[in-house]
Amino acid sequence: MDDSQPLVTPNESEKKSSPEAALDELLAGNRRFTSGRTSSHRRDLAMLQQMMEKQEPFAAVLSCADSRVPVEVVFDQTIGQLFVTRVAGNMVTAEIMASLEYAVAVLGTHTILVMGHSRCGAVTAAIQATYNGQVVPGQISALFPHIEPAVKQAGPDLEPTVRANALLQAARLRESPLLAAMIEEGKLIVAAGYFDLRTGAVTLLDQPER
Ligand SMILES: [Zn+2]
Repeated sequence: MDDSQPLVTPNESEKKSSPEAALDELLAGNRRFTSGRTSSHRRDLAMLQQMMEKQEPFAAVLSCADSRVPVEVVFDQTIGQLFVTRVAGNMVTAEIMASLEYAVAVLGTHTILVMGHSRCGAVTAAIQATYNGQVVPGQISALFPHIEPAVKQAGPDLEPTVRANALLQAARLRESPLLAAMIEEGKLIVAAGYFDLRTGAVTLLDQPER
């Protein structure tokens, strides 16, 4: 731990001040990651101790369970800053919806980013099941109904389907009456993004360039 590193950076409270500021900090953190200038991990233990009583994550992220998409790492964020839900195919199940409503309504999170990624195995499997009738072991096929709307809209190519899936899952979140009311009041942004494994960069799919 570098003692000269402030535990709370000057913009810490600003990150939480608006949906736009929260989204900007996510993208700024991703730029630190892609340029090899990450710093948040140096604060991990100190932040954990600070967060013992309560958490105030400034953003929530719904990402794939894929091991190559470690959310805090790619946004250069330490403990207590991101409320992360992960499931193969970054889909909105009832439990994911409940978790993200909790992040917004109880923890005060201002931004939710649904993040698809290149080379997604779950989306690939859903495409292959739809177009080739490919059978998968165990209960893996339980993922497919959630991804099928994107496959129908953008398949069979993988990348457009991943992008469509992130957009459709973000749209599902916006159907929540609780989240829709927060969006209407300007207190919440629900955005869709795409994580490129080759570059490590996250691009927004449905927001003005920032
Ligand atoms: Zn994936």
